[in-house]
Parts: sequence; C-alpha cells; structure tokens
Amino acid sequence: MTHNTLSMTINGQAADSQNRLEVVNPATGAVIASVPDAGAPELETAISAARAAFPGWRDTPWAERAAIVNRIGETIAANAAELATMLTREQGKPAEQAQFEVMAAAQWCQATATLTLPDREIEAGPGRRQVTRYVPIGVVAGISPWNFPVVLSIWKIAPALLAGNTLVLKPSPFTPMTVLRIGELIRDFVPAGVINVITGGDALGPMMTAHPGFDKVSFTGSTATGRRVMESAAPTLKRLTLELGGNDAAIVMPDVNVTETAEKLFWSAFTNSGQVCVATKRAYVHNDIYDAIRDEMAKLAKAVPMGDGSQQGVALGPIQNKPQYERVKALLADCEANGYGLLQGEAPQDGGFFVPVTLVDNPPEESRIVREEQFGPILPLVRFTDVEDAISKANNTDMGLAGTVWSADTETALRIAERMDTGSVWINEGLALSPFAAFGGRKQSGVGVENGVEGLLAYTEPKTFVVAG
Ligand code: NAD
Repeated sequence: MTHNTLSMTINGQAADSQNRLEVVNPATGAVIASVPDAGAPELETAISAARAAFPGWRDTPWAERAAIVNRIGETIAANAAELATMLTREQGKPAEQAQFEVMAAAQWCQATATLTLPDREIEAGPGRRQVTRYVPIGVVAGISPWNFPVVLSIWKIAPALLAGNTLVLKPSPFTPMTVLRIGELIRDFVPAGVINVITGGDALGPMMTAHPGFDKVSFTGSTATGRRVMESAAPTLKRLTLELGGNDAAIVMPDVNVTETAEKLFWSAFTNSGQVCVATKRAYVHNDIYDAIRDEMAKLAKAVPMGDGSQQGVALGPIQNKPQYERVKALLADCEANGYGLLQGEAPQDGGFFVPVTLVDNPPEESRIVREEQFGPILPLVRFTDVEDAISKANNTDMGLAGTVWSADTETALRIAERMDTGSVWINEGLALSPFAAFGGRKQSGVGVENGVEGLLAYTEPKTFVVAG
C-alpha cells in the first residue's frame, strides 16, 4: 500500500504541490509513498511565511521558545512508534534502531531546550556599560541527508528555533516521510511560519541555497555537495554550517582486550550498515593483534543478520538508495579486481539494496577503499607496527570528522587522540554523541559545529550595545 497523504507544512498549514516524488523502500525496492515535489512557487511561499514569522518569534521570550522546542521533543516521543515504523520503511534501518533514532531526536529537543545564551557584560571603563547579546540571524534553510533523517533534522530545528530564528527545512528526497510527519504533528502548536517543512527533488536544494530570502544555510550531507552549497551561498554571504563527510580512522593498540574491542569496533564501523558520518571507515590495527582482531570481526560479520529492518531479529538493513548502492558495489568490485582478501557475511540476494558486511584484509594505503568514504558496510583493516606511522596515515586525508583510539592504557590513548586532526575523537568506543558537546568536522569534513552551546551560537550573531553615562 502506498502512502500518498503526507503533506508539507507551510505557514502552519498543510501544503501540497502539483508534482509528486516517489519514495522507495530500500529493503524491497517497492514504491511505498509519493510526497510533494515542491518547486519555486512552494519555496517562495515557505520563505515568505518564515520571513513574516521572524520578528514575532525573535521577540518571543526565550523561555517560551524553549517550551515549544521541548514540546516538539515530547510530541516526537509520544508518537515514537508510528514515526519509527515509517522511518524503517523509508530508510531501511532495523526497527530497534529506528526507535532509537526517534527517541534520540526527542531527547535532543529536550536537552537543547535547557541551553541558554545569557548577555555578556564586557568591561568598558568608567562611565560606560557594554553588553554583548546573541541575537538570531533570521531565516534559516535547513538541508538534511538520508542516513539519520530524523535526528539530523532535529539538530537543526531545535537550536534554530530556540535561538529565535525561523526555518525552512528540506529533508533528503530519499527519506522525506518521517520528517514530513513530524511537521504535521507539530504544526498546531508551533506558531505559523516558524517552521516550514518542504520536500522536493534535486532542483530544490540549490534553489534554497541560492535564494536571497535565507540568511543562513545549515547543511548536512556530502563534502562534494557542501562545496556547491558554499559556492551558491557566496553571492549573498549567507552564514553557513556545513556538516560533511568523513573517513574516520581507528587506531587499535596491541594492549586491548581482543574480543571486547573487536565487537565494539565492529559496531563502530557497521551500525546503520556503515551509513554513519562518524562510522569507523579505516581501522589501523597493531600487527601483534591484527590476526586476532580480524578473525573475531570476521566471526561477527558471518553471524550478523542482515535483511528487511521491519523483520524481527534483523540487525543490519540495506543501503538506503540505488545511487549509493551502486557506489558501494563499485568499491567492492574494485577490491575484488585488485585481489584484496575479503571476509564477508551473508546478505539477501534479491529485492533490496543489500551489500554483505565485508572486511578487507590489509589493502594498500593507496587503495580506493582506504582513501575514499565508503558509506556502506565495508571496512578496510590495515596492519601497523609503528604508532607514529599509524597516526600519520590516519591524518593523511582531506577529511577530519572523527576518529577512535583503542588501548587499555587511557593515557597513551589520549596522547594519540590529541594528535588526530579531527573534530571528535573517542577512546575505547565509537559514535558517542551528546546534545551538550560541540560536534563538527575539521578540514573538508565541515565548517562550524552543531550541538552544545557552540552549536547554538551558530544560529546567532553577537550584537554589542554600548551605553554611555
Ligand atoms: P548529499 O550531499 O547527496 O545530500 C544531502 C542533502 O543535500 C539532501 O537533502 C539533498 O537533497 C541536498 N542537496 C543535494 N544537492 C544539493 C545542492 N547542490 N544544493 C543544496 N542541497 C543539495 O548527501 P547524502 O548522500 O544525503 O548524505 C551522505 C553524506 O552525508 C555522507 O558523505 C556523510 O558522511 C555525510 N553526513 C555528514 C554528517 C555530519 O554531521 N558531518 C552527518 C550525516 C551524513
């Protein structure tokens, strides 16, 4: 059965468009929905609504805005079962992980709502008072990807609204449904025009980033698209937050507990079938334990149940969409063509976009699977003997999102972590994000940060008042 009734939210009302966009369930390849495919007219209406709502929302007391952000979280939590089922159907992730993502989105709203940005009194000498206040920027364009459509949209909605901006949000055309549904659920209590949710095909994103009606773009997606966003934002000097791709390295020291580390490293790489911006995408493993780690991880790869995320017991789902499926298969074919050793699990043979969990046994440093972001369930394991060499290889990339260090000796691990050129680094675990901690990429993994006070500041501009007398 296809779901054709989801509507966009523009100016607090349901909105449709003439054209439609089809949504495919990646576990089956079947069309499961059609959603509005917005063009220029719908975008204009959404921007006008957001512009009209801005002064009133900017002047709404912080506590009232915080209460609304909090209520968005409560509403998501109260509808978690429906939202998670929809998320599994459109994104492919297993039901339990869809539930986890939806609840994380709810928690993020509630946590963000507790943040404040008090005015700063600045010493100005006798006879003068000086205060810096963090004022909202204006109308924000939010653009999110398909791997964590709900939580990554909330990372924009919560801070943008709390800081007093209004927003036009566009989820990925591959995963528009759950975010549209959230728009429907919150449109009755968020003042009209403060949040607008629109969906559309490939033309809509560029139209948004070039539009002079936006003051800021907050974009999460690939580095290639991030560059285009920056270019198209230049003529109007829009403020930018860019959360982009990664090629995160793990460095595994010889003193680790092999079984425990192999399992944690496995999930750091393969959660969401590797479609995580901060997934471990290359693992440098010390020669002394390399074989043991590889063999433990291979056991897990063989045992992990991959399939349709709506089925009980499935731990890993498909690649989310056809183009990405083709990219990941091409990387696998490149490994095969070069004769690299592969240790693989089982994947369904037909229907959806499934790629088996694959470990690549010590491919060369220049191989595509080491150099490129795979964004799929393939992990190269690379031997090292000298930790200096491992650190230098980990940093020898244009990416700098996150990294992990694994060692029984936390002090040693910290010293290695300090030298990784990344925005986050985790020790003896992976994928540990917090609504209170700044998160962002160095080098070409991004510009600016999300989350925490620093993420909230990115939705403001400092305005200084000087009062004489
Ligand atoms: P993508 O760049 O293809 O698309 C992201 C979003 O941008 C989508 O909504 C898309 O419709 C829109 N878009 C496409 N072209 C555009 C353009 N020219 N102008 C404006 N918008 C445009 O990325 P994706 O394939 O959806 O996501 C996967 C990538 O995202 C991976 O590289 C991953 O590492 C990265 N990612 C980063 C983070 C992070 O926080 N750093 C989080 C998740 C994913």
